[in-house]
Amino acid sequence: MIITSIETFSNEYVALVRVRTDEGDEGWGQASPYNADITAQLVHRQVACHALGMDASNIEAITQTVIEREHKFQGTYLYRALCGVDTALWDIRGKRAGKSVSALLGGSVSSFPVYASSMQREITPQQEAERMLALKEQFGYRSFKFRIARECGHDIDQWPGRTEEIVALMRKKLGDEVNLMVDANSGYSPEKAIEVGRMLTDYGINHYEEPCPYWELDWSRQVSDALDIDITGGEQDNNMIVWKQLIDTRAVDIVQPDICYMGGITRTLQVAEMAKQAGIPCTLHSANLSLVTLFSIHFMAAIENAGKYVEFSIEGLDYYPWQDRIFTPGYKISGGEVSLSDKPGWGVEINPEWMALADYQASYHASRF
Ligand SMILES: [Mg+2]
Repeated sequence: MIITSIETFSNEYVALVRVRTDEGDEGWGQASPYNADITAQLVHRQVACHALGMDASNIEAITQTVIEREHKFQGTYLYRALCGVDTALWDIRGKRAGKSVSALLGGSVSSFPVYASSMQREITPQQEAERMLALKEQFGYRSFKFRIARECGHDIDQWPGRTEEIVALMRKKLGDEVNLMVDANSGYSPEKAIEVGRMLTDYGINHYEEPCPYWELDWSRQVSDALDIDITGGEQDNNMIVWKQLIDTRAVDIVQPDICYMGGITRTLQVAEMAKQAGIPCTLHSANLSLVTLFSIHFMAAIENAGKYVEFSIEGLDYYPWQDRIFTPGYKISGGEVSLSDKPGWGVEINPEWMALADYQASYHASRF
């Protein structure tokens, strides 16, 4: 089963990838969102050129080959592009086996808990609490994540007092029975992170994400050592040496790889396994409603050391209009859980109307001619 073509359908935000084989297989994947028009170029220039002609069933070998051949050009874009091909190949693997990707990975559930994840910190604490409360009533969410600090904020809040106000208000409005989670997006020094962490502990927050600049692994470890609350992180990381360090030094209590930043399912499984060996749960990062969340649901529903919930963005088309009608069926949440189809592969169809508006590029294996 030889890969004969790799096609991209892209705009600035989304790059979908279609892989076909000489035996008539067809799989759909997605490169990482944002700057996806740039990433689509890399799919052809740095991934397709190696993957074409290889055995589509050996995803692990394709991943390794691309990384080795492009060893001088590694960085986030290579992995963002690789994810498009990797996830298309997992779709083919599932379709060939007549199983969903989740079932292929060992999963058997038809739904999985999600947490309602806010992407905004310009929003006032009052507005945030009100929309979370409405979502709780509408979809039955039991877990909520909101933003504190300022992104890469050097200890300065988005505006004075916002963090203290939102933490207190969310607990008051949503009640004591829900899980509350916060994301500081690299906002604090260790000293400040620990001080804020004590306040979070007082309010029963159970997930403290990226308290310090994510590249300062030792800062994160200091915070983790000082507090009982779960320190979480890793969404930006794609380097296995960094992952090993994060896990070995217990710089985080929960790992959060992003399937799209990691280069796909294959490499994310390696991180989840590394974490499992260390007794650390894995709660994937999936911050928008393109295919990354679908990939994450399949993955989380299958792995043994899955965290309690999948990240589910609550931002709609008013905030992320580019998420509109990429694939069907869309996500369905009820009782705080997202449903999971047992159709082969990813179990979705890409909308032809969306494809028709996207920029198209194709790379073919030479033997096709
Ligand atoms: Mg985050």
